[in-house]
Amino acid sequence: MKTSEGIKALGLISGGLDSTLAAKVLMEQGIEVHGLNFSTGFCSNDQRRALGRAGEEPHRLRNEALRAGADLGIEVEIVPVEKDYFGIVVNPKFGHGAHMNPCIDCRIFMLKKAKDRMDQVGGHFLFTGEVLGQRPMSQHLAALQTIEKEAGLEGLLLRPLSAHHLPETIPEKKGWVDRARLLAIAGRSRRGQLALAQTFQIAEFPQPSGGCCSLTDDTFSRRLRDVLDHQVPFEPGTQDPVLLKVGRHFRVSHQVKLVVGRDETENQFLERLRRGRWCFEVPDAGSPLVLVQGEPDDELRKLIAAIAARYSSRRSERLVEVQASKDERSEMIRVAPAADTFLEQCRI
Ligand code: SF4
Repeated sequence: MKTSEGIKALGLISGGLDSTLAAKVLMEQGIEVHGLNFSTGFCSNDQRRALGRAGEEPHRLRNEALRAGADLGIEVEIVPVEKDYFGIVVNPKFGHGAHMNPCIDCRIFMLKKAKDRMDQVGGHFLFTGEVLGQRPMSQHLAALQTIEKEAGLEGLLLRPLSAHHLPETIPEKKGWVDRARLLAIAGRSRRGQLALAQTFQIAEFPQPSGGCCSLTDDTFSRRLRDVLDHQVPFEPGTQDPVLLKVGRHFRVSHQVKLVVGRDETENQFLERLRRGRWCFEVPDAGSPLVLVQGEPDDELRKLIAAIAARYSSRRSERLVEVQASKDERSEMIRVAPAADTFLEQCRI
Protein backbone atom coordinates (compact mmCIF):
# COMPACT_ATOMS: atom_id res chain seq x y z
CA MET A 1 0.00 0.00 0.00
CA LYS A 2 1.31 3.46 -0.88
CA THR A 3 1.77 5.76 2.11
CA SER A 4 3.16 8.99 0.70
CA GLU A 5 1.47 11.23 3.24
CA GLY A 6 4.02 13.22 5.21
CA ILE A 7 6.88 11.97 3.03
CA LYS A 8 9.37 14.61 2.01
CA ALA A 9 11.88 14.20 -0.85
CA LEU A 10 14.76 16.52 -1.61
CA GLY A 11 15.96 16.75 -5.18
CA LEU A 12 18.73 18.35 -7.20
CA ILE A 13 16.94 20.86 -9.39
CA SER A 14 18.95 22.40 -12.22
CA GLY A 15 15.94 23.88 -13.96
CA GLY A 16 16.51 21.55 -16.92
CA LEU A 17 13.72 19.34 -18.19
CA ASP A 18 14.88 16.10 -16.54
CA SER A 19 15.03 17.37 -12.95
CA THR A 20 11.75 19.24 -13.45
CA LEU A 21 10.05 16.04 -14.68
CA ALA A 22 11.52 13.99 -11.83
CA ALA A 23 10.09 16.44 -9.31
CA LYS A 24 6.74 16.46 -11.07
CA VAL A 25 6.50 12.65 -11.15
CA LEU A 26 6.91 12.56 -7.37
CA MET A 27 4.58 15.49 -6.76
CA GLU A 28 1.90 13.66 -8.74
CA GLN A 29 2.15 10.89 -6.13
CA GLY A 30 1.54 13.32 -3.28
CA ILE A 31 5.18 13.52 -2.14
CA GLU A 32 6.31 16.83 -0.69
CA VAL A 33 9.22 18.00 -2.84
CA HIS A 34 11.96 20.40 -1.83
CA GLY A 35 14.53 21.53 -4.43
CA LEU A 36 18.24 22.16 -3.96
CA ASN A 37 20.52 23.90 -6.38
CA PHE A 38 24.24 24.18 -5.74
CA SER A 39 25.92 27.33 -6.96
CA THR A 40 29.40 26.23 -8.09
CA GLY A 41 30.61 29.40 -9.84
CA PHE A 42 30.71 27.54 -13.17
CA CYS A 43 27.14 28.07 -14.34
CA SER A 44 27.14 30.01 -17.62
CA ASN A 45 24.00 31.94 -16.75
CA ASP A 46 25.46 33.04 -13.40
CA GLN A 47 28.64 34.10 -15.19
CA ARG A 48 26.68 36.09 -17.80
CA ARG A 49 24.82 37.82 -14.99
CA ALA A 50 28.10 38.76 -13.29
CA LEU A 51 29.40 40.15 -16.57
CA GLY A 52 26.26 42.26 -16.96
CA ARG A 53 26.17 42.54 -20.77
CA ALA A 54 23.42 44.91 -21.93
CA GLY A 55 20.97 43.49 -24.43
CA GLU A 56 21.47 39.87 -23.33
CA GLU A 57 18.28 37.84 -23.77
CA PRO A 58 16.58 37.57 -20.33
CA HIS A 59 16.37 33.75 -20.43
CA ARG A 60 20.18 33.58 -20.72
CA LEU A 61 20.52 35.51 -17.47
CA ARG A 62 17.88 34.08 -15.20
CA ASN A 63 18.43 31.40 -12.60
CA GLU A 64 16.73 28.40 -14.22
CA ALA A 65 16.45 26.46 -10.95
CA LEU A 66 14.43 29.26 -9.36
CA ARG A 67 12.34 29.60 -12.49
CA ALA A 68 11.60 25.85 -12.48
CA GLY A 69 10.77 25.98 -8.76
CA ALA A 70 8.30 28.79 -9.36
CA ASP A 71 6.72 26.88 -12.28
CA LEU A 72 6.41 23.73 -10.18
CA GLY A 73 5.21 25.63 -7.12
CA ILE A 74 7.98 24.27 -4.87
CA GLU A 75 10.75 25.87 -2.88
CA VAL A 76 14.20 25.66 -4.45
CA GLU A 77 17.07 26.50 -2.15
CA ILE A 78 20.22 27.94 -3.73
CA VAL A 79 23.25 26.70 -1.83
CA PRO A 80 26.59 28.45 -2.45
CA VAL A 81 29.45 25.93 -2.62
CA GLU A 82 32.03 27.74 -4.80
CA LYS A 83 35.06 27.33 -2.56
CA ASP A 84 34.54 23.66 -1.61
CA TYR A 85 33.61 22.75 -5.15
CA PHE A 86 36.80 24.10 -6.66
CA GLY A 87 38.83 21.33 -5.00
CA ILE A 88 37.06 18.60 -6.97
CA VAL A 89 37.45 20.52 -10.24
CA VAL A 90 41.22 20.64 -9.71
CA ASN A 91 41.65 17.12 -8.44
CA PRO A 92 38.69 14.81 -9.08
CA LYS A 93 38.95 11.26 -7.79
CA PHE A 94 37.11 9.90 -10.84
CA GLY A 95 38.80 12.15 -13.38
CA HIS A 96 37.57 14.73 -15.86
CA GLY A 97 35.26 14.22 -18.81
CA ALA A 98 36.13 15.52 -22.27
CA HIS A 99 37.04 18.90 -20.79
CA MET A 100 37.48 20.10 -17.18
CA ASN A 101 34.11 18.66 -16.13
CA PRO A 102 34.49 16.28 -13.17
CA CYS A 103 30.96 14.93 -13.62
CA ILE A 104 31.09 11.87 -11.34
CA ASP A 105 32.80 13.75 -8.50
CA CYS A 106 30.45 16.66 -9.08
CA ARG A 107 27.37 14.46 -8.58
CA ILE A 108 28.87 12.81 -5.50
CA PHE A 109 29.79 16.20 -4.05
CA MET A 110 26.29 17.60 -4.58
CA LEU A 111 24.54 14.50 -3.31
CA LYS A 112 26.63 14.42 -0.13
CA LYS A 113 25.65 18.03 0.51
CA ALA A 114 22.04 17.19 -0.31
CA LYS A 115 22.14 14.28 2.14
CA ASP A 116 23.32 16.64 4.91
CA ARG A 117 20.45 18.95 4.07
CA MET A 118 18.00 16.05 4.01
CA ASP A 119 19.10 15.05 7.51
CA GLN A 120 18.73 18.64 8.72
CA VAL A 121 15.20 19.14 7.41
CA GLY A 122 13.91 15.65 8.12
CA GLY A 123 13.62 14.52 4.49
CA HIS A 124 13.00 10.85 3.72
CA PHE A 125 14.95 10.35 0.49
CA LEU A 126 16.71 12.14 -2.36
CA PHE A 127 15.92 12.18 -6.06
CA THR A 128 17.57 13.40 -9.25
CA GLY A 129 16.53 13.72 -12.88
CA GLU A 130 19.35 11.43 -14.04
CA VAL A 131 18.51 9.20 -16.98
CA LEU A 132 20.33 5.94 -17.51
CA GLY A 133 22.64 6.08 -20.52
CA GLN A 134 21.95 9.70 -21.35
CA ARG A 135 25.37 11.15 -20.65
CA PRO A 136 28.54 9.23 -21.36
CA MET A 137 30.53 9.96 -18.21
CA SER A 138 28.12 10.10 -15.32
CA GLN A 139 24.94 8.29 -16.33
CA HIS A 140 25.93 4.76 -17.31
CA LEU A 141 24.85 2.08 -14.84
CA ALA A 142 28.21 1.66 -13.10
CA ALA A 143 28.57 5.44 -12.70
CA LEU A 144 25.08 5.79 -11.23
CA GLN A 145 25.85 3.04 -8.74
CA THR A 146 29.26 4.54 -7.87
CA ILE A 147 27.72 7.95 -7.31
CA GLU A 148 25.04 6.52 -5.02
CA LYS A 149 27.54 4.48 -3.00
CA GLU A 150 30.19 7.19 -2.68
CA ALA A 151 27.57 9.70 -1.57
CA GLY A 152 26.51 7.31 1.21
CA LEU A 153 23.01 7.05 -0.20
CA GLU A 154 22.55 3.38 -1.03
CA GLY A 155 18.84 2.74 -1.45
CA LEU A 156 17.95 6.34 -0.66
CA LEU A 157 18.51 7.88 -4.08
CA LEU A 158 15.59 7.61 -6.45
CA ARG A 159 15.88 8.38 -10.16
CA PRO A 160 12.19 8.49 -11.10
CA LEU A 161 12.75 8.79 -14.87
CA SER A 162 14.82 5.60 -15.11
CA ALA A 163 13.55 3.76 -12.03
CA HIS A 164 12.39 0.65 -13.91
CA HIS A 165 15.94 0.04 -15.15
CA LEU A 166 17.40 0.34 -11.66
CA PRO A 167 17.11 -1.71 -8.46
CA GLU A 168 14.16 -0.96 -6.22
CA THR A 169 14.96 1.77 -3.70
CA ILE A 170 13.92 2.09 -0.04
CA PRO A 171 11.14 4.64 -0.82
CA GLU A 172 9.64 2.13 -3.25
CA LYS A 173 10.05 -0.83 -0.91
CA LYS A 174 8.44 1.06 1.95
CA GLY A 175 5.52 2.08 -0.22
CA TRP A 176 6.22 5.83 0.01
CA VAL A 177 6.47 5.85 -3.78
CA ASP A 178 4.46 3.72 -6.19
CA ARG A 179 7.05 2.06 -8.44
CA ALA A 180 4.38 1.33 -11.04
CA ARG A 181 4.01 5.07 -11.63
CA LEU A 182 7.73 5.63 -12.14
CA LEU A 183 9.34 5.48 -15.56
CA ALA A 184 11.63 3.45 -17.78
CA ILE A 185 13.33 6.17 -19.80
CA ALA A 186 16.89 5.42 -20.93
CA GLY A 187 19.36 6.50 -23.57
CA ARG A 188 20.30 9.70 -25.31
CA SER A 189 17.03 10.32 -27.14
CA ARG A 190 14.91 13.00 -25.49
CA ARG A 191 11.67 11.62 -26.90
CA GLY A 192 10.46 10.10 -23.61
CA GLN A 193 11.08 13.30 -21.69
CA LEU A 194 9.41 15.48 -24.32
CA ALA A 195 6.31 13.26 -24.30
CA LEU A 196 6.17 13.44 -20.52
CA ALA A 197 6.59 17.22 -20.63
CA GLN A 198 3.58 17.37 -22.90
CA THR A 199 1.56 15.20 -20.51
CA PHE A 200 2.43 17.50 -17.63
CA GLN A 201 2.01 20.60 -19.81
CA ILE A 202 5.54 21.76 -19.10
CA ALA A 203 6.34 24.09 -21.95
CA GLU A 204 9.28 26.07 -20.65
CA PHE A 205 12.68 24.52 -20.09
CA PRO A 206 16.25 25.33 -21.17
CA GLN A 207 18.59 23.19 -23.25
CA PRO A 208 19.68 19.86 -21.69
CA SER A 209 21.85 20.31 -18.60
CA GLY A 210 25.59 20.31 -19.20
CA GLY A 211 25.09 23.05 -21.80
CA CYS A 212 24.98 25.52 -18.93
CA CYS A 213 28.17 24.26 -17.27
CA SER A 214 31.30 26.16 -18.30
CA LEU A 215 33.44 23.17 -17.38
CA THR A 216 32.17 21.38 -20.49
CA ASP A 217 33.28 24.26 -22.70
CA ASP A 218 36.49 23.81 -24.67
CA THR A 219 37.83 27.38 -24.49
CA PHE A 220 36.90 27.84 -20.84
CA SER A 221 38.55 24.54 -19.90
CA ARG A 222 41.74 25.39 -21.79
CA ARG A 223 41.99 28.70 -19.94
CA LEU A 224 41.30 27.06 -16.58
CA ARG A 225 44.00 24.46 -17.23
CA ASP A 226 46.41 27.23 -18.16
CA VAL A 227 45.71 29.06 -14.90
CA LEU A 228 46.23 25.88 -12.88
CA ASP A 229 49.45 25.12 -14.76
CA HIS A 230 50.93 28.57 -14.25
CA GLN A 231 49.53 30.29 -11.21
CA VAL A 232 50.22 28.03 -8.29
CA PRO A 233 48.72 28.29 -5.74
CA PHE A 234 45.57 29.43 -7.48
CA GLU A 235 43.20 31.18 -5.10
CA PRO A 236 39.66 30.80 -6.34
CA GLY A 237 37.54 33.85 -5.73
CA THR A 238 34.08 34.31 -7.13
CA GLN A 239 35.40 36.57 -9.92
CA ASP A 240 37.97 34.14 -11.27
CA PRO A 241 35.69 31.76 -13.20
CA VAL A 242 33.94 34.78 -14.73
CA LEU A 243 37.28 36.26 -15.78
CA LEU A 244 37.99 33.09 -17.75
CA LYS A 245 34.86 33.78 -19.81
CA VAL A 246 35.78 37.35 -20.68
CA GLY A 247 37.90 38.69 -23.52
CA ARG A 248 40.87 37.27 -25.41
CA HIS A 249 43.53 35.60 -23.26
CA PHE A 250 47.27 35.57 -23.93
CA ARG A 251 50.13 34.11 -21.93
CA VAL A 252 53.37 36.01 -22.35
CA SER A 253 55.45 34.28 -19.66
CA HIS A 254 55.08 31.64 -16.99
CA GLN A 255 53.97 34.28 -14.48
CA VAL A 256 52.22 36.80 -16.70
CA LYS A 257 49.02 36.56 -18.71
CA LEU A 258 46.67 39.20 -20.03
CA VAL A 259 43.02 39.57 -20.84
CA VAL A 260 42.03 41.86 -23.70
CA GLY A 261 38.47 43.22 -23.56
CA ARG A 262 36.52 42.69 -26.79
CA ASP A 263 33.83 45.30 -26.29
CA GLU A 264 32.56 47.97 -23.95
CA THR A 265 30.90 45.53 -21.53
CA GLU A 266 34.07 43.47 -21.19
CA ASN A 267 36.22 46.59 -20.80
CA GLN A 268 33.93 47.76 -17.99
CA PHE A 269 34.10 44.38 -16.31
CA LEU A 270 37.93 44.37 -16.49
CA GLU A 271 38.00 47.94 -15.22
CA ARG A 272 36.39 46.71 -11.98
CA LEU A 273 39.36 44.37 -11.44
CA ARG A 274 42.19 46.79 -12.22
CA ARG A 275 43.10 47.68 -8.64
CA GLY A 276 46.62 46.39 -7.88
CA ARG A 277 47.09 45.20 -11.48
CA TRP A 278 48.75 46.61 -14.58
CA CYS A 279 46.33 47.86 -17.22
CA PHE A 280 47.13 48.94 -20.78
CA GLU A 281 45.12 51.07 -23.19
CA VAL A 282 45.63 53.37 -26.15
CA PRO A 283 44.53 56.91 -25.22
CA ASP A 284 42.29 58.89 -27.57
CA ALA A 285 41.53 55.84 -29.72
CA GLY A 286 39.13 52.95 -29.86
CA SER A 287 41.02 50.75 -27.43
CA PRO A 288 40.50 47.58 -25.45
CA LEU A 289 41.32 47.57 -21.79
CA VAL A 290 44.11 45.05 -21.27
CA LEU A 291 44.21 43.63 -17.77
CA VAL A 292 47.44 41.95 -16.69
CA GLN A 293 47.72 39.13 -14.18
CA GLY A 294 51.24 38.88 -12.77
CA GLU A 295 54.07 41.43 -12.64
CA PRO A 296 55.55 42.20 -16.09
CA ASP A 297 59.12 43.54 -16.37
CA ASP A 298 60.13 46.31 -18.85
CA GLU A 299 60.42 43.90 -21.79
CA LEU A 300 57.06 42.27 -21.11
CA ARG A 301 55.38 45.66 -20.69
CA LYS A 302 56.55 46.56 -24.23
CA LEU A 303 55.16 43.29 -25.51
CA ILE A 304 51.82 43.82 -23.80
CA ALA A 305 51.69 47.38 -25.13
CA ALA A 306 52.18 45.93 -28.64
CA ILE A 307 49.20 43.63 -28.10
CA ALA A 308 47.05 46.52 -26.82
CA ALA A 309 48.05 48.54 -29.91
CA ARG A 310 47.14 45.62 -32.19
CA TYR A 311 43.57 45.54 -30.88
CA SER A 312 43.12 49.32 -30.93
CA SER A 313 41.74 51.43 -33.77
CA ARG A 314 45.37 52.46 -34.47
CA ARG A 315 46.44 48.95 -35.40
CA SER A 316 47.49 49.99 -38.92
CA GLU A 317 49.87 52.75 -37.73
CA ARG A 318 53.60 52.04 -37.62
CA LEU A 319 54.07 53.20 -34.00
CA VAL A 320 51.41 53.64 -31.32
CA GLU A 321 51.56 55.31 -27.89
CA VAL A 322 50.15 53.00 -25.23
CA GLN A 323 49.46 53.94 -21.65
CA ALA A 324 50.48 51.40 -19.01
CA SER A 325 49.32 52.02 -15.47
CA LYS A 326 49.12 50.30 -12.14
CA ASP A 327 47.42 52.17 -9.31
CA GLU A 328 49.34 55.49 -8.96
CA ARG A 329 52.06 54.50 -11.44
CA SER A 330 51.71 55.38 -15.13
CA GLU A 331 53.97 55.36 -18.19
CA MET A 332 53.66 55.78 -21.95
CA ILE A 333 55.18 53.12 -24.20
CA ARG A 334 55.72 53.66 -27.95
CA VAL A 335 55.53 50.38 -29.88
CA ALA A 336 54.67 48.78 -33.21
CA PRO A 337 51.40 46.79 -33.06
CA ALA A 338 51.96 43.06 -32.51
CA ALA A 339 51.93 40.76 -35.54
CA ASP A 340 49.10 38.22 -35.81
CA THR A 341 51.57 35.33 -36.01
CA PHE A 342 52.92 36.30 -32.60
CA LEU A 343 49.41 36.57 -31.15
CA GLU A 344 48.60 33.05 -32.30
CA GLN A 345 51.66 31.72 -30.49
CA CYS A 346 50.62 33.08 -27.11
CA ARG A 347 46.84 32.90 -27.33
CA ILE A 348 45.26 30.65 -24.68
S1 SF4 B 1 28.23 19.04 -16.55
FE1 SF4 B 1 29.10 20.33 -14.93
S2 SF4 B 1 27.41 20.56 -13.44
FE2 SF4 B 1 26.87 18.84 -14.76
S3 SF4 B 1 27.64 17.02 -13.68
FE3 SF4 B 1 29.25 17.66 -15.09
S4 SF4 B 1 30.58 19.00 -13.91
FE4 SF4 B 1 28.65 18.81 -12.77
